[in-house]
Formats: sequence, structure tokens, C-alpha cells
Amino acid sequence: MSLTEDIKDFALDLGYSRVGITTADPFPGYISELRARQDMYAFYINRPTSPLKGAEPRNVMPSAKSIVMVVYDAFKESFPEKLVGKIGRIYQARCYLSPSHRINGARYRLMRDFLENNGCHVDHKIRVPERLAACRAGTVTYGKNGFAFADGIGSFIIISGFVIDRELEYDAPTYEVKCPPKCTLCIDACPTGSLYEPMKIDPRRCIGFNHWTTQEKGDSPVGKEGSYILPEIREKMGTWIHGCDICQEVCPRNQERLKAQLPQNEFLARVAEDFELTKLLNLTDEFFTKRVRPLMYNYIHKKKYFQRNAAIAIGNTGDPSFIPDLTKAMQDTEGMVRGYAAWGLGRIGGSRTRKILESSLSGETDEFAKAEIQAALGIN
Ligand code: SF4
Ligand code: SF4
Repeated sequence: MSLTEDIKDFALDLGYSRVGITTADPFPGYISELRARQDMYAFYINRPTSPLKGAEPRNVMPSAKSIVMVVYDAFKESFPEKLVGKIGRIYQARCYLSPSHRINGARYRLMRDFLENNGCHVDHKIRVPERLAACRAGTVTYGKNGFAFADGIGSFIIISGFVIDRELEYDAPTYEVKCPPKCTLCIDACPTGSLYEPMKIDPRRCIGFNHWTTQEKGDSPVGKEGSYILPEIREKMGTWIHGCDICQEVCPRNQERLKAQLPQNEFLARVAEDFELTKLLNLTDEFFTKRVRPLMYNYIHKKKYFQRNAAIAIGNTGDPSFIPDLTKAMQDTEGMVRGYAAWGLGRIGGSRTRKILESSLSGETDEFAKAEIQAALGIN
């Protein structure tokens, strides 16, 4: 058996559903696309692991010859009703590459160990453009929503790549947008207009990106870039608190899996048992440790951002039964949490919330919270 066959067998044995191999040649189309839209992608381009570096693997690893692309089917089991519509399925499936003692990180490490134990040098830092590399390796096709789809599975997949210094046998690329020509369901369904034309997303408007990238620049005053989420986006975030699946849920290419009777995932069922937005809003250390961190251990690291996202989600329910929870959050030690709780109260509206906001305003010393209370009261 060749090394190519050994690698493919091992990947499939590890539980990956697709494996393909492509060259370590650059991805010039990806680079020019990112550069053309660098105002939208500044937060991403300027990261230490800049995707522009990953798009030219040999600039980082001169000996790079091949990229092994693996695809994991993240939708083999059902997702609990209590979590759907709040946490994106791929995050429920713990899609992160780190830490290596959690499920996907461990699978990724085992694959990397196998390659290294078989004489390959594997670069540990390069992050290739995963969807594009997976297309070039013949494992997926594109959808107009920008997601990669594996035939027979759909787009709820986790894609990972390994840049290695060995020449292998390469697969034929599958650069194809396999959507029905007239379908625009995903574009029409995107609540924020983030998906503005086929294959083009403005991440600054995407719900999921607002959930976590806004934390990276730290706290910011009203209206300034940073943790601040524009009110017009907040209103469209629905009850999502970590990611958004809307443009995948409406997709005909995902319907077979979405409608399938799948076995229950016992871990998720256990976490979902007492998962409530109100607990996320008024987050105790115990709930954070027992319910939030086991599920959402990457991307969002600080309690207050989960609380912010929960305040927005609760506000968007418009349900007055949540007023006591939001009122309690108005006493939180973090000004950010008080500010978003105020927005949530304003969104629910009515004379009761107005009284709560008015009485909070006089004692509020945090500038952000104060501005949000005033905005909720309609005071300019
Ligand atoms: S994930 Fe949600 S907000 Fe982002 S592009 Fe898709 S539908 Fe729009
Ligand atoms: S909703 Fe339609 S256009 Fe969008 S990705 Fe799915 S099939 Fe393609």
C-alpha cells in the first residue's frame, strides 16, 4: 500500500467521512478575494495566524508539498431542541481544533501524530483556507451560502487540513457550486443581509461573527468598534447566542439530514437538560463551569460576552415573563451586562420596563450602561 492509501485508511478509521489530498500550491483566488474585501475581513487578516499566510503554505513551510484534507460529519446524531436556535450545530458538535484533550482536537492530534509517525513533517501552525482546500482536494463542493457541502452529508461538517512535506497522489478538484441554479433561499433568509450575494458574506453583519469577534477588540463605548453590537444587528439576532444556522437550515441540500430520524447524542442531551437563556444571562460560576464551558469552550472566553448575547436573545423574545431576569441583570457588576440588559428591557417595552429603566438610570455610573438605558428610554 502507498502512503497515500495508508493516510486515507487511517483518516477514515478515525471517523472522518471524507479525505482528499491536494498540492501545497498557493490559493491565489482566495488571496485576491480577501484583499479586495479587506475592510470586511480586517479582524481576520490581522490575526497572528493570518489566513493570507495559510494561503501560501510554502512561504511558511518551504518544504511543503501536499495538503491532506479531512472532513468530519458533525450531524450523525440529533441536536437537542433546547439548544437548536440558540447554539449553532457545528459548535454543539465541538468543532474546535484545540484543546487536544477534547473530541475534535484529539481526533486532529491523532491524525497529525499518524502523519508524523509515518515520516511526514507537519506544520503545526499553518491554517489553509479550509473550504477551498477541501474543494481542491475533491472532498466537497460549494454552496451559494459560502459553506462547503459534502455529498450525502450536507454542510454541517468540520474541515481540517494538514500541510506536509511529502509528495502524494492527488485527487481531482471539485470546484463546483452544486446549488439549483435559481435557488436563493439562503440569501433571502439571512436576517442581517450579511449574505449579500452568492458566495459573499460581510462578516461584520453576520450573527455568529458578532457573537465572538466583537470580544477580540475589547470593550468599547457606544457606537465604537469592539464589543459593541449595533442595535440594528441585535434586533435581527433572534435567540441565537453562539453562531447562527439560518442559511444552512433553509438549504435544500441539508434537508435530508435535518429531517432524518437520528439517534440522540447523550452528552448534548445532558447539557441541554437545564440549559436556559436566563441562566446564561445571570451566569453563576457553577452554571458557567457545568453547562457553558463543556459545550462552548472556545471562541468566547469571558462570562460577560455570554451574558451580553443572552440579554440580546432574551430581549428579542419580546416576552414580559423575562422582565425579572433582565431586572436582576441590571444589578450585574459588569457595565456591559447592565447595558445590554437595558436594551433587552427596552426591546420588551411597556410601562413596567420603563419604570425599571428610569430607576436604574439615576444610580448608573458606567458610561456604556448609562447610554444604553437612555437609548432604551428614548432619551438622546
Ligand atoms: S450565519 Fe446567519 S447571519 Fe450569518 S450569513 Fe448565515 S444566515 Fe446570515
Ligand atoms: S439555499 Fe439554495 S442557493 Fe443557498 S446554498 Fe442551499 S441550495 Fe445553494
